[in-house]
Amino acid sequence: MTMAQRSLKVAVIGAGTAGLVTARELQREGHRVVIFEKAAEIGGTWKYNPEIESDPLGIDPNRKIVHSSLYSSLRTNLPRHLMGFSDYPFNVKKNGELNNFPGHEEVLKFLNNFARDFGIFDLIRFNTEAVRIERENGEENNQWIVEWRGNDDDEENKTEVFEAVVICNGHYTQPKVPQLPGIRNWAGKQIHSHNYRVPEPYGGQVVVVIGAGPSAYDISQDLCKVAKQVHLSSRSNDVKISKLSENVWQHSEVEYCYENGEVGFKDGALVAADIILYCTGYKYEYPFLKTNGIVRVDDNRVGPLYKHIFPPQLAPRLSFIGITFHAVIFLMIELQAKWVAHVLSGKTNLPSQQQMLDDTEQHYRRLEANGTPKHQSHSLRGIMFEYLDWLSIEAGGEAVDDNIKHIYEKYIESIASSYPWIGSSFRDLDIHKFIK
Ligand code: FAD
Repeated sequence: MTMAQRSLKVAVIGAGTAGLVTARELQREGHRVVIFEKAAEIGGTWKYNPEIESDPLGIDPNRKIVHSSLYSSLRTNLPRHLMGFSDYPFNVKKNGELNNFPGHEEVLKFLNNFARDFGIFDLIRFNTEAVRIERENGEENNQWIVEWRGNDDDEENKTEVFEAVVICNGHYTQPKVPQLPGIRNWAGKQIHSHNYRVPEPYGGQVVVVIGAGPSAYDISQDLCKVAKQVHLSSRSNDVKISKLSENVWQHSEVEYCYENGEVGFKDGALVAADIILYCTGYKYEYPFLKTNGIVRVDDNRVGPLYKHIFPPQLAPRLSFIGITFHAVIFLMIELQAKWVAHVLSGKTNLPSQQQMLDDTEQHYRRLEANGTPKHQSHSLRGIMFEYLDWLSIEAGGEAVDDNIKHIYEKYIESIASSYPWIGSSFRDLDIHKFIK
């Protein structure tokens, strides 16, 4: 183990991919780690749960929340060559076969193997939900209180003080649902993809799927086997009405939802629909975090965060891992975690608070100038490897392996050319031709 310059007692919130890797990196830097995990198992998103919530749109604040948003048929949307860590490749087999695009069970197994091989299980307090995270009295104080509750309703909440907190609670649980024109009086059923598991309940139905990401296409592929019709709706300007397969159509944005159950699209089509299924993404939420307004979520921008990780006014003792997207997620999480571990041990210095705030402001201004909506603030599209190289070098490592960059770039190029992904799956791609 590297001798740390400063060893801190660190609370990690969540034992999904981000929490597990963060714990490993913190330990490597000599920090003392406790992971708080509200579930009984590790894996977070990758722990498939057949249960769905009582409110299919996920709006009722009193519903029992199901964490994972995975559907049963889900396979990764990145090839396994991009689903490992820098020193721990993804080699989990299913029935003796190494799949290029593994299913969720293989990913969960991979994470379990990782946690076992790096001794992470001993650090986790399962069935323990962090309900309040707050800096102890006063601005200069670097002590953080973590209040948590266990499974037992009769037991009182407990608190413990830490020297730093790393938040790894995930951001694919709280549905984001757009308000479609006329939807209040629309006659049909509505559901968010968070509560979609299997296609059978949709047998014989006419389903409108809102969204244009991998989930919208995966779920439509699932649905078209049993549904009467599937109508995909995208708000992208490039989309024209088209028939994608026997019973799947692509449409533009929804124009209006009528009381009689019809859904009108801006391309002029009118469809008598039974169900609207929203594949419209998720909201960032930190109900446990009390920072007196220093960290805010505004239209899905969590900020201000220096490099999407440190709130300048609370750095380095509070940090967030895994907020960014449109990326090679596992590697991104690993490099973010390495940087945080190095900064906490004092091996890597952060700029001054003012410089971090200025850098963050500049980032926001750049987004605005490019016309990037606020809710895309944490997207790494087009800048991912620049960002990952920077993180890695800041954490004392080297730029990301050229082979990873090459596979990713070729892969993205190929899937873009086979969009929309109905009928032909990008998962049939021969990834080996991209490996140098
Ligand atoms: P999570 O996996 O969500 O883990 C967060 C953990 O925190 C959970 O275990 C949760 O129980 C715990 N937690 C939350 N709040 C508290 C609290 N207050 N106290 C204690 N514990 C708490 N990524 C890929 O790389 N490839 C893919 O193919 C891919 N496909 C995806 C498909 C879908 C449908 C979705 C939704 C996501 C997909 N992702 C994919 C992204 C995926 O979310 C990440 O791979 C990864 O799971 C993120 O890990 P995380 O640890 O940040 O969050």
